[in-house]
Amino acid sequence: MEEGVADVDCRTSRLMMHRYLDGDLSEDEQQELRQHFNVCSACLKHFRELDYTVTALQADAIVDAPSDFTEKLFQQLPKKTSGRRSAWGKGCGDTPLSLRHPFFSS
Ligand SMILES: [Zn+2]
Repeated sequence: MEEGVADVDCRTSRLMMHRYLDGDLSEDEQQELRQHFNVCSACLKHFRELDYTVTALQADAIVDAPSDFTEKLFQQLPKKTSGRRSAWGKGCGDTPLSLRHPFFSS
């Protein structure tokens, strides 16, 4: 990988999307990815399709965690830091999940 060190290029962006959906993207990298989405509608579209697919799969066959529950939780309760699992499907907004709630900081 000689390219895309400073700026995320499309190829890197696609890779990062998959890592994001695996919950394996650091906050810095998520930031870079979002910045790329701001300038690249093709990748944004691709990501939305990917994200939709994964979310749909999760909702269909709940594997490890009740993603529906998590999603509702995200909508209702502020959460400390997003950690590994970020806001499924609500991703590309400008709302970082860096809010706090006593429920999570015990
Ligand atoms: Zn792109």
